[in-house]
Amino acid sequence: MELKNGTFEAPEKIAHIGIAVHNIENSLAFYNDLLGLTLENVEEVESEQVKVAFLKIGESRIELLEPISKESPIAKFLERKGEGIHHIALEVNDIEKRLLQLKTEGIRLINEQPKEGSNNSQIAFLHPKSTNGVLVELCQHY
Ligand code: ZN
Repeated sequence: MELKNGTFEAPEKIAHIGIAVHNIENSLAFYNDLLGLTLENVEEVESEQVKVAFLKIGESRIELLEPISKESPIAKFLERKGEGIHHIALEVNDIEKRLLQLKTEGIRLINEQPKEGSNNSQIAFLHPKSTNGVLVELCQHY
């Protein structure tokens, strides 16, 4: 089958896997203390109403997401499904053009425009209905 991604390079790696948790401190007992993954940073992402912690694992990261308000999408996720894998983030370049191209191909976008993510990144989510049931985040670091 012909590739329909035009001139875009394929995403170069899994930037991170997002895991929804009730409490980051408690979760670090496993991911940091027991597994020994290095905690890189903890910050709050206003736009998503979450606190996030990044743990380095090879070229990728594990992102722990804790809601900081009831309006947070993560709070709603935890209510519906409990703790668990929330999304997979793919590292891309040209995030804006890529979103446009995906939209043109009929992919449902949650964010039509990239927004401010953690760690100096621009992010946008694709709808699971268009990605085989997985919430996919596109992520571009500067
Ligand atoms: Zn993420």
